[in-house]
Order: sequence, then structure tokens, then C-alpha cells
Amino acid sequence: MSGRALNWVEGGFTMPSNESTDRFGVGSALEPTPPVAPGGGGGWVRRGIELCVSGQVQGVGFRPFVYRIAMRLGLKGAVWNDASGVVIELFGDPPGLDEFLRCLSEECPPLARIEMIRRRAILGPSAPASFEIAESQHEGRPDRVAVDSATCVECLRELHDPTDRRFGHALVNCTNCGPRYTIVNDVPYDRPLTTMAGFAMCERCRSEYRDPRDRRFHAQPTCCPSCGPVLDFVGAGGGSSGDAIESASEAFVRGQIVAIKGLGGYHLAVDATNEAAVARLRAKKRRDHKPLALMVDSIETARSLVELSPEAERLLTSPAAPIVLATRRCEDGIACGVAPGMHRLGVMLPHTPIQHLLSRRGHRVLVMTSANLSDEPLISDDGDARTRLATIADAILTHDRPIARAVDDSIVLDAPLGAHLLRRARGFVPAPIRLPAPADRPGLCLGGELKSAVAISDGDHAVLSQHLGDLNHTLAFERFRSTIEDLLRLFRVAPAWIARDAHPGYLSHRYADTLGRRWGVPIVDVQHHHAHMAAALAEHGRTDAVVGLICDGVGYGSDGTSWGGEVLVGDLVSFRRVGRMRPLALPGGDAAAKQTGRCALSWLMDSLGPDAITTPIARRVIPVDAERDAIAAMLARQLNCPPSSGLGRLFDAAAALLGVCEFNHFEAMSGVRLEAIASGGRSIDGRHVGQSDSDSGPACVRERDGLMELDHRPLCRRLVRGLERGEPIELLARLFHEAVASLLATSAIRAARESSLSSVVLSGGVFCNAWLASLVHQELTRAGLEVLMHRRVPANDGGIALGQAAVAACVQRQGR
Ligand SMILES: [Zn+2]
Ligand SMILES: [Zn+2]
Ligand SMILES: [Zn+2]
Repeated sequence: MSGRALNWVEGGFTMPSNESTDRFGVGSALEPTPPVAPGGGGGWVRRGIELCVSGQVQGVGFRPFVYRIAMRLGLKGAVWNDASGVVIELFGDPPGLDEFLRCLSEECPPLARIEMIRRRAILGPSAPASFEIAESQHEGRPDRVAVDSATCVECLRELHDPTDRRFGHALVNCTNCGPRYTIVNDVPYDRPLTTMAGFAMCERCRSEYRDPRDRRFHAQPTCCPSCGPVLDFVGAGGGSSGDAIESASEAFVRGQIVAIKGLGGYHLAVDATNEAAVARLRAKKRRDHKPLALMVDSIETARSLVELSPEAERLLTSPAAPIVLATRRCEDGIACGVAPGMHRLGVMLPHTPIQHLLSRRGHRVLVMTSANLSDEPLISDDGDARTRLATIADAILTHDRPIARAVDDSIVLDAPLGAHLLRRARGFVPAPIRLPAPADRPGLCLGGELKSAVAISDGDHAVLSQHLGDLNHTLAFERFRSTIEDLLRLFRVAPAWIARDAHPGYLSHRYADTLGRRWGVPIVDVQHHHAHMAAALAEHGRTDAVVGLICDGVGYGSDGTSWGGEVLVGDLVSFRRVGRMRPLALPGGDAAAKQTGRCALSWLMDSLGPDAITTPIARRVIPVDAERDAIAAMLARQLNCPPSSGLGRLFDAAAALLGVCEFNHFEAMSGVRLEAIASGGRSIDGRHVGQSDSDSGPACVRERDGLMELDHRPLCRRLVRGLERGEPIELLARLFHEAVASLLATSAIRAARESSLSSVVLSGGVFCNAWLASLVHQELTRAGLEVLMHRRVPANDGGIALGQAAVAACVQRQGR
């Protein structure tokens, strides 16, 4: 990793407590501000300062915080939200103003992130008599909507304290925690513009809200049992009954499936130790193999289930509270059906009061998976939940605070080289990410197609949307369209350009045409792999030229063919392709992406020649004679065998050869299985690396058609030899990873030398494979190269829109 330390919580940076405020454009020593008489000799005016604070400063208790400091220091003036952040007008003695600036930096509330403070001197008509929180100003362009945040420690204390008036209150929240992005209908962040608008505060809540000394001073979603939303449990019989939490708890004990309303949508939950309940959930959800996430009652329970790095623990317990995927321990007591064949488990901690109340009832580990049917988008609407989840859930635990927009749980992978996001949603969205080179006009980026996420750019920043899913689902496409409208409205952006993937078949590509015509704005096509590379550059704030090792599934290439595993050289503006994986013919096209034996047969015939069809290994990977002969004939005549340089299919081929995955029930399943076997169920500690084999031969990178070709045929022959010799599958799986990593690293090192570059970007969905990423990283750093990897933005297509924003910002500026 390089560059400045990245702050996980948002795109900017936390205001460091030990630095002078100069860095933020604020002078630490203020000029004296004596009262002066205006020219006409009329009434006294007083000099003061105005501070415009931008960053994550709305909905995080910032105004009350400012108020308290001002009161403490005896300063006069006012603070208010405007659409760009918070404005502070201050009048007082210079030492007091200096002290104020110091406190602003050092005592910042936990969820606040100051990115910039603009300061100017002002003259006031005599100093105000007091300091007040003024009405919000609605003009201007907002640059922040706060992210949702897990229940804070103070609220938890109240939740569990029988003497507190909010004891057991399932929607307890305060200025430091609770829903934000998922309740905001518009900005600025004020209660009438949230989904709490319909709930009138009771007298006690109102007095807390108005009391500057109270920790709920100006807490927009604040409420209590007598004025807030009401919890409701609807069981199989249809009616609501008794204590909702108690009823849900009893349902888990009976092995029932309960739909539970969360911050950004509903979850489906069952007791994770009840094998029958988990199997029933899978059957009803029509989800055969994909692992299910778990919610554990405490960090101790999480530690007992998975091996957690300190960074992963920090993230688990952070306000973002994502699902963390980590290596599972052997005896975890979890039902086999939760994550069959997986060496990792996805765990999260309770992050809403409802979840905390359920955990308190003794439910140590619950399956907590997104409520949706099969691969459809997450359900967040109460009506949808009652009707569409009726076929899955036995009961529903809900309340009447509406969810403004669906936001899935975020997923973080705890990897040896550091935790990184695989899915960016709740707790991270819509925090903006600063673009390395700003655009001079705002724009919209439509992302890819699978794992879709869109982005808007205001020029300086990009706001990446929450994960939207596979656009080929009608409902996901609907969500894609509504999210675009939503973000443009919330951030007051009128796009002057649109960036999209160059793939003419992508729905997002075609939708760009529709929008481009509607708005009369130009469209920038961004090549898929270039967007991946740019996303990593953007994340690191870089604009320089690098080598891009982009290992992906399929992306539309500049030459109109399908690209996959590619070596690029370039920067944000342009790139050239200098290498690629040797293409593998995919018999039956899409069928080969599911049935891994097809890829294996293709790899065998390419590596060993046509006679490979008669070997015992070929007979094992495609057991039915007629089918095997048909596939061989297709390969021999290159009929319906589109070539793919995607690394995913090579993983499929190897997984079939080694007999670890015959069918991809979900995307990248074979890769996950292979990685699990290669790592032997344990995290990488460096000891295995390079020790498994001395005989896989040198990495075979050759010249072909003016490109480096990463030739994997020697690797295939080596695996076949190993199988024939009866070598352990674990060893061969490891050898496969090492050989692929070596091919990739060798080509990147060569590209770097030839182009006199010293940095290599790793991006593309294949780099979600932590084992492979570690091996490549190790070889590249050993060669003295800097390696840039994703952290806060997914390496998969969830990060594409950010890359498009970074590229388009440069391209549209040059085009003017
Ligand atoms: Zn709180
Ligand atoms: Zn109340
Ligand atoms: Zn991709």
C-alpha cells in the first residue's frame, strides 16, 4: 500500500487531532478583531469569522458539538446547516477563536469527518448577544449525506437499563448513531425531510432535542416508546401478539424463519445452529450453495467462530458494522448448511437496537441474510416484505419507520494484505471519494452490469452508490434507474456528461443512450479493464502511469473481442494493452461458465493435444461419453467455442481437473473452493509460499501478435502429471495458485521494465482471491515494484463506476 493512510469510514480523511488546522485552510493564529466604527460613524460593527465546514458534518451531532464549544468559550454567533455542510459565524476575542479552532479539530464527534474548512472575515452589526443553532439554509449544493451507523454505546446502555425511559426501545438512536442515508428523503438533514417526518416528538423528546446539554440535541430521528415508531411481530396466524421481541425469540427456538427489518432492508433470520432450519431457509429462498451471513451476539463469539485480524475486529465493531469474511475455525458448532465447503464465514455484530434485543435473548448466532428471492434485489418496502416474503418467512418483525432506500450490508474480506471491501453499501455509502483529477463539470457514471453500482461526480468527488446487483434482473434494473434519480436529486447534480462501459450489450450502456438523448449531454465510453485500473488509481489518489494487472471475468475489449486477464500500461487518460492470458476456448459459451468440466476439457486439449480426450482425467471431468465426444468435436472445429482470456475460466478448469468443483452454483464458486483447498483452511502466513513445488517450470510468458501471452499450458501439463502421480490435491491447488501468480507477476515485471514504470495496480474480480493476490503482491514487491490494491472500493465490478468517473473527468476536460 502506498500514499497517505486511508480512512475507512469515508472518502476524505479524518481531521487528525495532532495537526494544525492550517492544513485545512484555516489560519491557526487569527488577527485581532477589535470593534471598529464604520465609515459613516454610525453604530459599532464587530469583526468576526465565518467558517464553512464541509465533510461528513450533517446528521452526526456537529451543530450541537459546535454549540457546546462556543458556549464553553463564551463565543457569540450562530451555527447552521446549509446544503454544502455546516456554517459557523463566530464573534469573540482572538484567543477564544483560536481555542475554538483547536477544539473543532481535537474534539470532533465520532461520526464527523471534517474535510475542509473555508474561512473568511465578516463584519456584524454589533456582536450577537448569544450563540445559537439557527434554521437550516436550503440553498446550495449538498456534498454530504451521512452514512448509517450502528447503535452507539450510550444508546445501548439505555436500551438495557430497566430504569431508563428508553429501556427496550427498539428504535433508540442519538446524534452519534442510528439511521441516516436510509431515512433521508432530501437534504439538508432535518427531520421533516426524513422518514421520521410523520412522527411528532413527545414533550420529553422535544425538550431533549432542544437542550444543548443533551446528547440528543438536534438528533433528527430521536424518539422514545411513547412517540416513536412501533415494533410489530406478525406470526404465521397473521395477527400481532404480545412482546414482539419475545415472540421473535420463541420463533427462532421453534426453528422458524423470521423476516426482520434492518436499517437498509429486511433480513431473513434463523437459528444458525439448527441444521433443519437452515436447510429450510435455503430451500425456501431457492439458494442452494451460496454461503449465508451470520450475526453473532458479541466480538467474543465472533472470535470463537473465525480468525480475526486486529483490523477486522476494528471494522466489525466500527459504526459501519459490515459483514466480515474471515477464516473459520474448525469446531464452530454452526450448521453445515450455512457455508458448505467454505473456509471462511461471514460474520457481523448487531448494529440495530432490534438486533441487540434479539441477541440479548440468548441467540448467540443467527443466520442473517438479505431478504430477497433468489438473486433479486433486497426488499426494503414494508408492503413488499409482507407480500413477497410471505412464501419464505414464518413471521415478520417490523416497525413503521419507512426505509427511504434499500441498502444491503457491506462485506469486507479479512485478507493477509489487509481488509478490503467486496461489497460497498451500508455504513460506507454515500460517503464521497475524492477524485485524483477533478472534472470541471458534474457527471454520471453507469458502472458495469453484474455487481452494478453507479456513481455521480460533482467535479471534485465521486459518490459511488450502494451495490445494486445484476442488472439483468428486472427489479435490479428498476433499482438502478431509481438510484440514479435518487442520487442526482440528493446531491443536486445535473450531469454534463455520462460515462459508461464500452460493452454495447450492457443494459447500462444502452440506458446511457436514453439519458444522453434526454439530457443532450455527451457520452464517454470507458473500456472495462481501464475502468478497473482507474478505480484503483482513484482510490489511491494517483494520476501517474502504472502497469495494470487486471484479472477479471469478461470485459468488452478495445478491439471488440472479449477480454479477461489483461496486462495494461497507462494512466487515467489512456492505456495500451501489452499482455493477456492465453485465451481458452469455451465450448458452449455460457454453459462452460457453469459446467467446469467443459473448461477442463478445453484446457486439456489445448495443452496436451487432441488425444487428451481419451485420458482417464478427461473421462472424469466429463463422465458421459456422448457429451464428451460432442464437446471434443466442438473444440476440434472451433464451433460455438468463444475464446476467453478470463482467469475465472482457468480457475474453473483447474477446479474440475482437481475434482473440487464440478458446477458453479454461484459466481466464482470454483475459485473460492480452490482457494480454500490451497490455503488448507488456514490463512496465509508465508510459509507455504514457494515451498510446494520446484518443478512447475519457469513462468511461461511469450510474445504473440505483438502482445505478451501468459501461457498456462505448461501448468496444465504439470497438474495432469501430479494427478497421475497421486500428489495431494491441496498441493496441486497451491501449485496452481503459485504458477498463475508467477505468470501474472512475471508479465507485470516485464511490462514495468519495458515502460520504465515502478508501480503495478491489481484490480478485477479475481483479486478478491486473497491467496492469489498475496502471491502476486509478494513477487512484485520482491522485484522492487510498488503495488496498489483496492481497500475501500471493491476490486470487482462494484468499483467500475468510480474508475469511469476518474477517466471521464480527465477525458471530458481534455475534450473541451
Ligand atoms: Zn446513540
Ligand atoms: Zn418521545
Ligand atoms: Zn470487471
